[in-house]
Amino acid sequence: MKKDIHPKYYPKAKVTCSCGNTFEVGATVPEIHVEVCSACHPYYTGTQKFIDTAGRVDKFQERIKKAKEMQDKLQKKGKKEESSAKNKKEK
Ligand SMILES: [Zn+2]
Repeated sequence: MKKDIHPKYYPKAKVTCSCGNTFEVGATVPEIHVEVCSACHPYYTGTQKFIDTAGRVDKFQERIKKAKEMQDKLQKKGKKEESSAKNKKEK
């Protein structure tokens, strides 16, 4: 083995999960922060959970809202011409 090319090894690096769970692993950094671990991952818990770190769910819902507003506008425009057909689709 070559000398002085190996990073410092922490045999008890502390892993902290966003769910509050902590455990120790061997790593080259003393502390690790994770968003999901074996205690809270849906695969192990069997429950659904949304992990929204970058506000992506919010962004998506905003887009849906905008799309609905656009649809409403378009439907109001077209109501004069074909009101009966569009109203049936809406409900
Ligand atoms: Zn966790």
